[in-house]
Amino acid sequence: MILDRIKGMHNELVAWRQKLHTIPELGFDTAETVKFVKNKLQEFGVDEIQSGIAENGLVALIHGKKKGRLIGLRADMDALPITEVNNLPHKSKNEGKMHACGHDGHTTMLLGAAKYLCESRNFCGTAVLIFQPAEEGLGGAKVMLDEGLFKKYDISEVYAIHNMPGIDKGKFVINKGPMMAAADTFFISVKGVGAHGAYPHEGIDPIIIAAQIVQASYSIISREIPSHHNVVISITQINAGTASNIIPETVEIVGTVRTLRNEDAKLVEKRISEIAKNIAKANNGSAETIYEYGYPATINNESKAIFSAEVAKDLVGNDMVEMDIPTNMASEDFSYMLNEKPGAYVFLGQGDTPGLHHPEYDFDDDISPIGASWYASMIEKNLTETE
Ligand SMILES: [Zn+2]
Ligand SMILES: [Zn+2]
Repeated sequence: MILDRIKGMHNELVAWRQKLHTIPELGFDTAETVKFVKNKLQEFGVDEIQSGIAENGLVALIHGKKKGRLIGLRADMDALPITEVNNLPHKSKNEGKMHACGHDGHTTMLLGAAKYLCESRNFCGTAVLIFQPAEEGLGGAKVMLDEGLFKKYDISEVYAIHNMPGIDKGKFVINKGPMMAAADTFFISVKGVGAHGAYPHEGIDPIIIAAQIVQASYSIISREIPSHHNVVISITQINAGTASNIIPETVEIVGTVRTLRNEDAKLVEKRISEIAKNIAKANNGSAETIYEYGYPATINNESKAIFSAEVAKDLVGNDMVEMDIPTNMASEDFSYMLNEKPGAYVFLGQGDTPGLHHPEYDFDDDISPIGASWYASMIEKNLTETE
């Protein structure tokens, strides 16, 4: 059952979420959002607040009735550079910015849990609430860790929720291993010799070299990586040329690589570079590859994932908790936290709505009490008297 007290806060949760939706902020620039968060936390009576971590990140502590372990709960606060097309009363007031990933909802759910935990204190230990900026591409989680988040607060476990359109409303999806992929980027610069389009023999055509590199790169997956490993390579940009009758000097190729295992990313890095270099060489040209590592894969700890699912089942029933669906090949910077501490990242379905990052997306306020109850229960059921 959803915690009754949190159910009773539903109108408040809706008001907070819709307020946050009107003031979306990007990256680390979440000053107005974190001010709202801080005011609420002070109102609830949290025991300690540290702000200014990763610029506009904030950590709040709530102590239970007795001393014990520290458990981290994380919500992201940043929005996206998207112009909202919804015509809602709580539509974005910040032109060109939008909460299109539902981080307004995540922040609200963690605030709901904070309010409940401050009132009830029915646990032995400390809840460490982590309000993080810059999840979208800038790795705010890593910056918080680099600034000593887990050194200052010796958290034994860490948990987070992401809402998910396309999963039944109120349903939890939790994998016992990979939840999301690592996302890397590569850039290949192919160099030839320019020429008139009518006299290709006078130059070295980088376009034919690039075409062969594209073909050969995709065969890394089918021929060099075991078929049960999930790996995606997508070449997403090819830029070259200025006119129909000119063979250009260079071609720039850009792509993304999604993996669940570090060794697969290492292999793709090595092989893409070798393939580009050697195909170019065979065609009398040259190619250089830059491979940039992005967010690592988001991997749940098996026993923490099972525990998370048990807590969720108590709230929404067995039928509304699903384990081990195919890994989502997008990425998430909570992975940095899960690489340091055991824990779990869970999806909470919000039904058939426009997808994440879509200009018509809106977080579904119906699921706020569920998410807030899960966060709160993860503290209460983890930090029990009998430990
Ligand atoms: Zn997003
Ligand atoms: Zn997101």
